[in-house]
Amino acid sequence: MANSLTGESNLEGACWHASCGIVRTPVHARPIINLNSPMPGTRFTDNAPGKFYVTDDCDGCGICFSYALQNFMYSNDSSYYFIYQQPADEREEADIRRAMEVCPQSCIRDDGEIS
Ligand code: SF4
Repeated sequence: MANSLTGESNLEGACWHASCGIVRTPVHARPIINLNSPMPGTRFTDNAPGKFYVTDDCDGCGICFSYALQNFMYSNDSSYYFIYQQPADEREEADIRRAMEVCPQSCIRDDGEIS
């Protein structure tokens, strides 16, 4: 999209918020997610049946595992993590929810089904 005043593309360089002065970084340039659309990512088949799952957006950083040792496991090639065991109690569910909050890829999901 071109800037209507200068005719320059605003897809690179400084932020299009004229007054903020932020130089656009990949994070700042993230597209807005339409919450009415299905969340991206495909559920790994390794996930245990139930409401929590990890999608193929996982990059294998392992942060979730440090929050919920009982519930996450790494894949055979260690390239991603998945829900190994659905939460057995409220404490484990809280651990998974904390992992959801810190997951850098936002790829831990709760589909709302009863586990
Ligand atoms: S924190 Fe998220 S990106 Fe990192 S391994 Fe866990 S599910 Fe994957």
